[in-house]
Amino acid sequence: MLELHHVSLSYGRTAVLQDVSLRLEPGQRIGVLGPSGAGKSSLLKLAAGLAQPTQGRLRNAFRHPVLVFQEPRLLPWRRVLENIEIPLRAAGMDTAAARQRARHWLDAVGLAETALSWPRELSGGMAQRVSLARAFALHADLLLLDEPFSALDPVLRAAMAELCLTHVRETGAALLCISHHPAEQARLVQSWAQVSTGRLVWPAAEIPHCATA
Ligand code: ADP
Ligand code: ADP
Repeated sequence: MLELHHVSLSYGRTAVLQDVSLRLEPGQRIGVLGPSGAGKSSLLKLAAGLAQPTQGRLRNAFRHPVLVFQEPRLLPWRRVLENIEIPLRAAGMDTAAARQRARHWLDAVGLAETALSWPRELSGGMAQRVSLARAFALHADLLLLDEPFSALDPVLRAAMAELCLTHVRETGAALLCISHHPAEQARLVQSWAQVSTGRLVWPAAEIPHCATA
Protein backbone atom coordinates (compact mmCIF):
# COMPACT_ATOMS: atom_id res chain seq x y z
CA MET A 1 0.00 0.00 0.00
CA LEU A 2 1.01 3.61 -0.64
CA GLU A 3 -0.18 6.18 1.83
CA LEU A 4 0.34 9.92 1.73
CA HIS A 5 -0.97 11.70 4.79
CA HIS A 6 -1.21 15.49 4.54
CA VAL A 7 1.93 15.63 2.44
CA SER A 8 3.47 18.84 1.15
CA LEU A 9 6.39 19.15 -1.24
CA SER A 10 8.48 22.23 -1.89
CA TYR A 11 11.50 22.83 -4.04
CA GLY A 12 13.36 25.49 -2.12
CA ARG A 13 10.75 28.19 -1.58
CA THR A 14 8.46 26.92 -4.32
CA ALA A 15 5.51 25.03 -2.87
CA VAL A 16 4.54 22.35 -5.40
CA LEU A 17 2.14 20.10 -3.49
CA GLN A 18 0.10 21.02 -0.45
CA ASP A 19 -1.73 18.85 2.05
CA VAL A 20 -2.06 15.88 -0.28
CA SER A 21 -3.64 12.71 1.09
CA LEU A 22 -3.79 9.56 -0.96
CA ARG A 23 -4.20 5.88 -0.33
CA LEU A 24 -3.45 3.33 -3.03
CA GLU A 25 -3.92 -0.40 -2.47
CA PRO A 26 -2.50 -3.28 -4.52
CA GLY A 27 -4.63 -3.70 -7.63
CA GLN A 28 -6.14 -0.24 -7.33
CA ARG A 29 -5.96 2.03 -10.39
CA ILE A 30 -6.21 5.80 -10.04
CA GLY A 31 -6.07 8.37 -12.83
CA VAL A 32 -4.63 11.84 -12.20
CA LEU A 33 -5.81 14.89 -14.12
CA GLY A 34 -4.88 18.52 -13.98
CA PRO A 35 -3.33 21.35 -15.95
CA SER A 36 0.33 21.55 -16.78
CA GLY A 37 2.46 22.73 -13.86
CA ALA A 38 -0.15 21.70 -11.26
CA GLY A 39 2.15 19.16 -9.58
CA LYS A 40 1.10 15.84 -11.16
CA SER A 41 4.63 14.68 -12.02
CA SER A 42 5.80 15.66 -8.56
CA LEU A 43 3.12 13.41 -7.09
CA LEU A 44 4.46 10.51 -9.15
CA LYS A 45 8.01 11.27 -8.04
CA LEU A 46 6.90 11.07 -4.42
CA ALA A 47 5.26 7.72 -5.12
CA ALA A 48 8.42 6.48 -6.86
CA GLY A 49 10.65 7.54 -3.97
CA LEU A 50 12.42 10.10 -6.19
CA ALA A 51 11.29 12.98 -3.98
CA GLN A 52 10.66 13.19 -0.25
CA PRO A 53 7.80 15.08 1.42
CA THR A 54 8.75 18.41 2.93
CA GLN A 55 5.87 17.96 5.37
CA GLY A 56 3.46 15.19 6.25
CA ARG A 57 3.90 11.44 6.22
CA LEU A 58 4.50 9.03 3.34
CA ARG A 59 4.47 5.27 3.73
CA ASN A 60 5.23 3.09 0.75
CA ALA A 61 4.93 -0.67 1.17
CA PHE A 62 5.27 -1.32 -2.56
CA ARG A 63 8.69 -2.88 -3.14
CA HIS A 64 9.08 -2.42 -6.82
CA PRO A 65 7.72 0.86 -8.20
CA VAL A 66 8.37 1.65 -11.85
CA LEU A 67 7.95 5.16 -13.23
CA VAL A 68 7.45 5.84 -16.92
CA PHE A 69 8.35 9.41 -17.84
CA GLN A 70 6.43 11.27 -20.50
CA GLU A 71 9.63 11.65 -22.52
CA PRO A 72 10.88 8.14 -23.26
CA ARG A 73 14.35 7.88 -21.76
CA LEU A 74 15.86 5.19 -23.91
CA LEU A 75 19.58 4.52 -23.84
CA PRO A 76 20.70 6.00 -27.18
CA TRP A 77 23.74 3.74 -27.57
CA ARG A 78 21.76 0.51 -27.09
CA ARG A 79 19.46 -1.14 -29.58
CA VAL A 80 15.72 -1.18 -28.92
CA LEU A 81 15.55 -4.76 -27.66
CA GLU A 82 18.53 -4.20 -25.38
CA ASN A 83 16.80 -1.18 -23.89
CA ILE A 84 14.10 -3.51 -22.58
CA GLU A 85 16.50 -6.30 -21.71
CA ILE A 86 19.13 -4.37 -19.72
CA PRO A 87 16.89 -3.40 -16.77
CA LEU A 88 15.69 -7.02 -16.55
CA ARG A 89 19.29 -8.24 -16.34
CA ALA A 90 20.02 -5.54 -13.79
CA ALA A 91 17.09 -6.90 -11.78
CA GLY A 92 18.74 -10.34 -11.74
CA MET A 93 17.20 -12.20 -14.68
CA ASP A 94 19.54 -14.42 -16.67
CA THR A 95 20.35 -13.40 -20.23
CA ALA A 96 18.10 -15.90 -22.02
CA ALA A 97 15.06 -15.20 -19.86
CA ALA A 98 15.56 -11.44 -20.11
CA ARG A 99 15.85 -11.63 -23.88
CA GLN A 100 12.72 -13.75 -24.14
CA ARG A 101 10.71 -11.42 -21.93
CA ALA A 102 11.99 -8.36 -23.79
CA ARG A 103 10.94 -9.90 -27.10
CA HIS A 104 7.52 -10.73 -25.72
CA TRP A 105 6.85 -7.14 -24.67
CA LEU A 106 8.29 -5.55 -27.78
CA ASP A 107 5.95 -7.78 -29.74
CA ALA A 108 3.04 -6.89 -27.44
CA VAL A 109 3.41 -3.17 -28.22
CA GLY A 110 3.53 -4.00 -31.94
CA LEU A 111 7.21 -3.19 -32.52
CA ALA A 112 8.87 -6.59 -32.91
CA GLU A 113 10.50 -5.49 -36.15
CA THR A 114 12.38 -2.65 -34.40
CA ALA A 115 14.35 -5.00 -32.11
CA LEU A 116 17.69 -4.18 -33.74
CA SER A 117 16.95 -0.52 -34.47
CA TRP A 118 18.58 2.34 -32.60
CA PRO A 119 16.32 4.56 -30.48
CA ARG A 120 17.06 7.58 -32.70
CA GLU A 121 15.47 5.70 -35.62
CA LEU A 122 12.10 5.57 -33.83
CA SER A 123 9.31 8.13 -33.99
CA GLY A 124 8.22 9.75 -30.72
CA GLY A 125 5.21 7.46 -30.51
CA MET A 126 7.29 4.35 -31.15
CA ALA A 127 9.78 5.36 -28.46
CA GLN A 128 6.89 5.85 -26.05
CA ARG A 129 5.65 2.32 -26.79
CA VAL A 130 9.15 0.92 -26.22
CA SER A 131 9.32 2.68 -22.88
CA LEU A 132 5.94 1.16 -21.98
CA ALA A 133 7.18 -2.29 -23.03
CA ARG A 134 10.26 -1.81 -20.85
CA ALA A 135 8.07 -0.90 -17.88
CA PHE A 136 5.59 -3.75 -18.35
CA ALA A 137 8.46 -6.25 -18.69
CA LEU A 138 9.68 -5.28 -15.23
CA HIS A 139 6.50 -6.52 -13.49
CA ALA A 140 6.24 -3.57 -11.14
CA ASP A 141 3.96 -3.84 -8.13
CA LEU A 142 3.35 -0.10 -8.45
CA LEU A 143 3.18 1.27 -11.98
CA LEU A 144 3.49 5.06 -12.28
CA LEU A 145 2.71 6.45 -15.72
CA ASP A 146 3.23 10.11 -16.61
CA GLU A 147 1.13 10.82 -19.71
CA PRO A 148 2.35 7.57 -21.23
CA PHE A 149 0.22 7.81 -24.37
CA SER A 150 0.71 11.50 -25.23
CA ALA A 151 2.60 10.89 -28.50
CA LEU A 152 0.16 8.23 -29.77
CA ASP A 153 -2.82 8.52 -32.05
CA PRO A 154 -6.25 7.63 -30.60
CA VAL A 155 -6.21 4.06 -31.95
CA LEU A 156 -2.82 3.30 -30.41
CA ARG A 157 -3.77 5.09 -27.19
CA ALA A 158 -6.73 2.78 -26.83
CA ALA A 159 -4.64 -0.31 -27.64
CA MET A 160 -1.88 0.63 -25.18
CA ALA A 161 -4.38 1.45 -22.44
CA GLU A 162 -5.99 -1.95 -22.98
CA LEU A 163 -2.59 -3.68 -22.86
CA CYS A 164 -1.78 -1.82 -19.66
CA LEU A 165 -5.10 -2.78 -18.11
CA THR A 166 -4.62 -6.48 -18.93
CA HIS A 167 -1.08 -6.37 -17.56
CA VAL A 168 -1.89 -4.75 -14.22
CA ARG A 169 -4.85 -7.07 -13.77
CA GLU A 170 -2.60 -10.09 -14.35
CA THR A 171 0.17 -8.91 -12.04
CA GLY A 172 -2.12 -7.31 -9.44
CA ALA A 173 -0.08 -4.11 -9.63
CA ALA A 174 -1.39 -0.77 -8.47
CA LEU A 175 -1.54 1.99 -11.06
CA LEU A 176 -1.24 5.75 -10.85
CA CYS A 177 -1.63 7.24 -14.31
CA ILE A 178 -1.49 10.89 -15.35
CA SER A 179 -3.71 11.45 -18.35
CA HIS A 180 -5.35 14.14 -20.40
CA HIS A 181 -7.80 11.74 -21.99
CA PRO A 182 -10.15 10.68 -19.21
CA ALA A 183 -12.99 9.72 -21.53
CA GLU A 184 -10.71 7.42 -23.53
CA GLN A 185 -9.20 5.88 -20.45
CA ALA A 186 -12.39 5.35 -18.51
CA ARG A 187 -11.72 1.60 -18.42
CA LEU A 188 -8.07 1.87 -17.41
CA VAL A 189 -8.66 3.49 -14.03
CA GLN A 190 -11.30 3.00 -11.36
CA SER A 191 -11.34 6.56 -10.11
CA TRP A 192 -9.95 9.98 -10.95
CA ALA A 193 -8.31 12.59 -8.82
CA GLN A 194 -7.29 16.03 -9.95
CA VAL A 195 -4.25 18.08 -9.04
CA SER A 196 -5.22 21.70 -8.90
CA THR A 197 -2.49 24.22 -7.94
CA GLY A 198 -0.76 21.70 -5.73
CA ARG A 199 -3.86 20.23 -4.09
CA LEU A 200 -5.39 16.86 -4.74
CA VAL A 201 -9.14 16.96 -5.38
CA TRP A 202 -11.25 13.82 -4.90
CA PRO A 203 -13.00 12.96 -7.09
CA ALA A 204 -11.79 15.00 -10.03
CA ALA A 205 -14.15 17.85 -10.86
CA GLU A 206 -13.75 17.85 -14.62
CA ILE A 207 -14.56 14.24 -15.35
CA PRO A 208 -17.35 13.38 -17.76
CA HIS A 209 -17.88 9.96 -16.16
CA CYS A 210 -15.91 7.42 -14.17
CA ALA A 211 -15.56 3.73 -14.86
CA THR A 212 -16.84 1.31 -12.28
CA ALA A 213 -14.83 -1.73 -13.40
P1 ADP B 1 -7.55 10.53 6.95
O1 ADP B 1 -7.15 11.98 6.90
O2 ADP B 1 -8.95 10.30 7.41
O3 ADP B 1 -6.54 9.64 7.60
P2 ADP B 1 -6.48 10.06 4.36
O4 ADP B 1 -5.40 11.01 4.77
O5 ADP B 1 -6.09 8.66 4.03
O6 ADP B 1 -7.63 10.02 5.45
O7 ADP B 1 -7.29 10.66 3.13
C1 ADP B 1 -7.89 11.92 3.21
C2 ADP B 1 -8.98 12.01 2.15
O8 ADP B 1 -8.40 11.83 0.85
C3 ADP B 1 -10.01 10.93 2.26
O9 ADP B 1 -11.07 11.32 3.11
C4 ADP B 1 -10.50 10.77 0.85
O10 ADP B 1 -11.52 11.68 0.55
C5 ADP B 1 -9.31 11.14 0.00
N1 ADP B 1 -8.67 9.94 -0.57
C6 ADP B 1 -7.46 9.44 -0.26
N2 ADP B 1 -7.16 8.37 -1.02
C7 ADP B 1 -8.22 8.17 -1.83
C8 ADP B 1 -8.53 7.21 -2.83
N3 ADP B 1 -7.68 6.23 -3.16
N4 ADP B 1 -9.71 7.32 -3.48
C9 ADP B 1 -10.55 8.31 -3.17
N5 ADP B 1 -10.33 9.24 -2.23
C10 ADP B 1 -9.19 9.18 -1.56
P1 ADP C 1 2.78 18.78 -13.80
O1 ADP C 1 3.27 17.37 -13.88
O2 ADP C 1 1.37 18.87 -13.29
O3 ADP C 1 2.96 19.54 -15.08
P2 ADP C 1 5.09 19.21 -12.10
O4 ADP C 1 4.94 18.32 -10.93
O5 ADP C 1 6.02 18.78 -13.18
O6 ADP C 1 3.64 19.55 -12.70
O7 ADP C 1 5.57 20.64 -11.60
C1 ADP C 1 4.85 21.39 -10.63
C2 ADP C 1 5.57 22.68 -10.32
O8 ADP C 1 6.81 22.38 -9.67
C3 ADP C 1 5.94 23.48 -11.56
O9 ADP C 1 5.73 24.83 -11.25
C4 ADP C 1 7.40 23.19 -11.75
O10 ADP C 1 8.04 24.29 -12.35
C5 ADP C 1 7.89 22.95 -10.34
N1 ADP C 1 9.01 22.01 -10.26
C6 ADP C 1 8.97 20.71 -10.64
N2 ADP C 1 10.14 20.10 -10.42
C7 ADP C 1 10.96 21.04 -9.88
C8 ADP C 1 12.33 21.04 -9.42
N3 ADP C 1 13.07 19.94 -9.46
N4 ADP C 1 12.81 22.21 -8.93
C9 ADP C 1 12.05 23.32 -8.87
N5 ADP C 1 10.77 23.38 -9.27
C10 ADP C 1 10.22 22.26 -9.77
